[in-house]
Amino acid sequence: MSTHLIDGLGRRISDLRISVTDRCNFRCFYCKSADPMNYSGHDAMSLEEIARLARIFASLGIEKIRLTGGEPLLRSGIEKLVAEIAAIPGVRDVALTTNGWLLPEKAQALADAGLDRVNISMDAVDRAKFTEITRTPDAYDKVIAGIAAARRAGLEPIKVNAVLVRGMNDDQVEDFATFAREHQVIVRFIEFMPLDADRHWTRDLVVTAEETRRRIHAVYPLEDFTRDTPSETARKYRFADGHGEIGLVAPVSLPFCGACSRIRMTSDAKIRTCLFSTRDHDLRPLFDRGASDAEIAQFIRDLTLHKEPRHHINDPDFVPANRSMVFIGG
Ligand code: SAM
Ligand code: SF4
Repeated sequence: MSTHLIDGLGRRISDLRISVTDRCNFRCFYCKSADPMNYSGHDAMSLEEIARLARIFASLGIEKIRLTGGEPLLRSGIEKLVAEIAAIPGVRDVALTTNGWLLPEKAQALADAGLDRVNISMDAVDRAKFTEITRTPDAYDKVIAGIAAARRAGLEPIKVNAVLVRGMNDDQVEDFATFAREHQVIVRFIEFMPLDADRHWTRDLVVTAEETRRRIHAVYPLEDFTRDTPSETARKYRFADGHGEIGLVAPVSLPFCGACSRIRMTSDAKIRTCLFSTRDHDLRPLFDRGASDAEIAQFIRDLTLHKEPRHHINDPDFVPANRSMVFIGG
């Protein structure tokens, strides 16, 4: 039997995202983790369970693991978990997506534990707008300090995730490009997806990757250097004058489902085969009855066969479902 995890369409699944908590200390206006009402809490996986699952997934050929949330740095023992995952044979990339708040305290310990790199989320470079979006006073300086701490710890390249929402922060595009150049970070512009907490998503709110590219190119000429490797989700552009690069992630206007290599774990032990899945696969009953690693691996193989062929955002009759959006990661 192949050691690779293959879905029903023959896509090789090599990339696992694990939500280690659904809690967060920010209150980003579009995010489900912003509201304690949405926390599942008591069902959260233990760190031992997460590490065990990571090993089982690695035995199935998972090579890249990203920790996310909620805010993953709120999970106590995160450094130990990173160390355990980084030590798993076959795992060649351990990354983390964070709001950056705790990086000044934790970046060095995470790097020492074996973390390869971080994505830091920032939806505005303007301080007042950042505060409006995150609804978290005093966060801006902490996140900027977090970027500096990640750099000092060698967690590079540092990627900054910016989700653009029309009418909220689409005026930040050019300033983000300047920020990328001045702070030597790769800003990745992510199209707003219909996963928001209040289901306010409409197509009109999406700022397409092409619009973003055009606007930046008008100020700082760009050169496309995307490597067209399967499952590469971002289109990559470098500034023609050599001062850095940006990425454009276009799940809405240029879906990459055909090359999707991802699978996700929620913090309460459920496997989600697509961001837009309407059904999760609960591992809790297997844990509770003492299932062996081999049984859990077989369960994962079987459910992966039914991974969704694609999302349906672009279907004329698409209706956003009431799903959390905690696993985008980047
Ligand atoms: N708290 C961490 C953070 O903010 O980076 C990790 C979890 S957060 C949910 C992961 C990423 O998903 C963030 O960059 C966030 O902006 C992005 N995201 C959340 N909702 C989104 C949506 N509806 N469309 C696109 N990206 C979204
Ligand atoms: Fe927290 Fe990240 Fe959600 Fe913002 S996007 S509320 S930082 S989990």
